Parts: sequence; C-alpha cells; structure tokens
Amino acid sequence: MSTAFIGLGAMGYPMAGHLARQSDTLVWNRTPARAQAHEAEFGSAACELSSLAHADVIFSCLPTSAEVWEVLRVLDGQLEAGTVWVDCTSGHPQEAQAQAAWLAERGVHFLDAPVSGGTGGAEAGTLTVMVGGDPAVLERVRPRLAFAGKVVHVGPTGAGFAVKAVNNALLAVNLWAAGEGLAALKAGGVELTAALDVINASSGRSNASENLIGQRVLSREFPATFALGLLAKDVGIALDVVGAQKGAAPLLGATGGLYRAAERVIGGSADHTAALKLVEQMNDVEIS
Ligand code: NDP
Repeated sequence: MSTAFIGLGAMGYPMAGHLARQSDTLVWNRTPARAQAHEAEFGSAACELSSLAHADVIFSCLPTSAEVWEVLRVLDGQLEAGTVWVDCTSGHPQEAQAQAAWLAERGVHFLDAPVSGGTGGAEAGTLTVMVGGDPAVLERVRPRLAFAGKVVHVGPTGAGFAVKAVNNALLAVNLWAAGEGLAALKAGGVELTAALDVINASSGRSNASENLIGQRVLSREFPATFALGLLAKDVGIALDVVGAQKGAAPLLGATGGLYRAAERVIGGSADHTAALKLVEQMNDVEIS
C-alpha cells in the first residue's frame, strides 16, 4: 500500500500532511523546495513525478483540470492498472469525464473529489469531500481520506466538481452582495460592526457575513489563503454546469462577470475577499 500526492499548494500541503501521518506517502510539487519542506515537516518522501506512478492511490490538488491533464500526460505509460486517481482539484465536470475515460483505457479508476473547508479545514483535517464516480471505488479509498471530516458521494463522474462549483458560486454571490449592502450602509454613516452584529443574528447572514467580512475585510488583512482567480474560475465552471443543462441563471451570469472584472482590476493572486475592493472603488467608500 502506497499513497502519492501531487500539488503541495495552500490546500495540498496540509492535506498531504494528514496522509503522511497515516501511512507512507510520496509527494511531488512543481517547485521542489516545497516537497522537500513537506518531507522535513511530515516525514513524507519528496520524489520525481514519474517515481510516484506506482502508488496504488494517487491524489492531485492543482489549480484547474488543465494542470491535471499536464501531469497525466507526463505519467502516460507509467500508471498501473488498478490504481485509483483521486482528484481533489476544484476541476471541471466535463474534464472529469474525459480524464476518467482516458484513465479507464489504462485500467486506472478516477474519482473527482474536490474539498471545502479552506486552509483551516485542511490543517485541522476536517475538510468536506464531495465525490463523483463509482461508489465501490470510493469505499476502497475512503479509509485513505485522512484529511476529511465529512465525505459525501454526490453522483457519477463529474458530479463532485459540479457540486463544488455551485457551492463556490454561492460563496461568490453572498460575498459580493454583502459587500454592496455594507458599502451603502457605510456611505450612510452606519457602524459596520453593529450592522454585521444584526445581520448575523438575522436572516441575511452567510459565511461571508459571519466570518469572511469581519476577519478579512473590516480588518483590512485580506490574508491570501484562497485566490480570487480560483474563485472566478469556480463561478465560470458553475456557469458551464448551468449551460450544459441549457439552464437560466442570470444572477450567476452577472456574478461571473463581476468576479472576472475583480480578478483583472484587483489581481487574481489576491485573496478572494479582496474582490470587495472593487465594490469599494465602485462606491468610493471603504468597507471598514
Ligand atoms: P495554490 O495556488 O496554493 O497551489 C497550486 C498548486 O498547484 C501548487 O502546488 C503549484 O505548484 C501547483 N501547480 C500550479 N501550476 C502547475 C502546473 N502547471 N504543473 C504542476 N503543478 C502546478 O492553490 P490551492 O491549494 O489554493 O488550490 C488548489 C485547488 O483547490 C484549486 O482547484 C482550488 O480552487 C481548490 N480549493 C482551494 C481552497 C483554498 O481555500 N485555497 C479551498 C478549496 C478548494 P508550485 O508550488 O510550483 O506553484
């Protein structure tokens, strides 16, 4: 039994830490210094990408499905039949289906298994994992999901990525709408800590109002734990999910445009909550 983890970013680094505490774990990162730091901190084994092809469970956590394709192509011809590939990237449902088919031709199983709970959940080992794919394959790897607090099978291949995209689209809507409302209240002279106190005891509350805005926006800290560019990507995937059903989702469409604008104006590597800096610019007021 051997486990491998590809992509030691803000999420992957602590997630792979939980795996290494559980069993022998090979780690690979594009920037090797991060894999070496992981080996020193958690006792994992930093290796070349091709060296982890023989693991029986391979996790990936990369920015998008495009980077997952890049590593799959490098590993082509080296993966072994019976291996399970667990992609924890917030990827694209259509790419999940294509990757599952590509891997199936090589005898490898694929689960789309994106996560929620942020870097705090990754460090605590309490992430929620939403899994698309064969339920029997999930049962084989369930004991290996050492970073999870909750694991839910949500449907066939691609369903995990679809649920993740819709969840993050809701985050984007709630965050932006709270920012617009608070900007107006601030311009009208209302104390925002008092306004949030009321909203968080009332029906307008959300994770954005309860946690993100107080901790990251009013504080002016905007700690870069989840990139604005990644949230904009997720809203775009949610719009593709809607489009695949020929659905009507004008609010999500507007949200996608707003986050693409925020990514361009504020910068994709800023924390996602920094999107509200664009709301501030639009209203000439600081949400503080
Ligand atoms: P980061 O930007 O922190 O890390 C990205 C990782 O991908 C790094 O290990 C990076 O390597 C690697 N990488 C980037 N491009 C390539 C490439 N072309 N080839 C190989 N490796 C590459 O991202 P996060 O950890 O924040 O996010 C990862 C995934 O998890 C995303 O899909 C995101 O949407 C999702 N997610 C993020 C959450 C968060 O709170 N941050 C919460 C839930 C899901 P290198 O070190 O060399 O740059």
